[in-house]
Amino acid sequence: MRGLKDKVVIVTGGGSGIGSAICTRFCEEGSVVAVLDLNGPGAEAKAAAIRAAGGRAKAFQVDISDQKMVNAAVASVERELGPVDVLVNNAGWDKAGNFLDTDKTLWEKVVAINLYGPLNMHHAVLKGMSERGRGRVINIASDAARVGSSGESVYSFCKGGLVAFTKTLAREFASKQINLNVVCPGPTDTPMLKEVCGDSELGQKLYEGFKRAIPFKRLGQAEDIPGAVAFLASDDAAFITGQVLSVSGGLTMAG
Ligand code: NAD
Repeated sequence: MRGLKDKVVIVTGGGSGIGSAICTRFCEEGSVVAVLDLNGPGAEAKAAAIRAAGGRAKAFQVDISDQKMVNAAVASVERELGPVDVLVNNAGWDKAGNFLDTDKTLWEKVVAINLYGPLNMHHAVLKGMSERGRGRVINIASDAARVGSSGESVYSFCKGGLVAFTKTLAREFASKQINLNVVCPGPTDTPMLKEVCGDSELGQKLYEGFKRAIPFKRLGQAEDIPGAVAFLASDDAAFITGQVLSVSGGLTMAG
């Protein structure tokens, strides 16, 4: 992929699942990766594994829903690794349930992580990108934002908001040569999917149902996602902004 060598890349939620695979891919491309995660040991382990493989990475423990912590973490990244070239907002969380069985405590947690988290990250990173007149943002939403997802109403509300937010910022920051795009995974076999489905009979039905619904007849794997993210961060995507790309084995085919 062209233009990723030596770029400073922040990946939120880089300590697990899809984020971990995205970190690996950017390191393979010669980028310098800041692994941001609430799970400090998870982020440390990922950064150490990248360094052991000859790559460049550093871990930063941060709760993306906490604006002060985010601002401090981004300042540390820029001080220790250099100005941020690419931001990948990947961290996310959900707990499945029917909407009427959910309460405000759960809504607040889902919104804090999946909406305020990306808001905080964009706010902390875009100022510097604007001043430099370059930058890439790739937001990891979900096919839930495009076609809905049973049992994930509030999460879908957030991911749909993230898509609309990305398109709006793509317009606002185009004059600064900053590209913002969205990648929507479908059901992907990660710790999050296992947690969302749970061990119940219903959860297992959901898990098997996903496979049947996907034209490729398999769940996504974390490693299916980073190619699209790396492409959108690369020089080859310099004229692409405000777009939404599903990586879901054909689950959604949007025009
Ligand atoms: P995961 O649970 O394996 O990893 C998520 C990571 O985010 C974890 O390391 C976790 O510690 C971190 N995180 C959670 N809350 C955080 C916070 N407040 N601050 C910082 N880090 C935090 O999940 P995953 O499946 O790899 O999901 C990655 C992204 O892909 C999420 O945005 C998710 O919504 C999206 N997605 C996943 C699926 C799927 O089926 N797995 C489908 C569509 C979209």
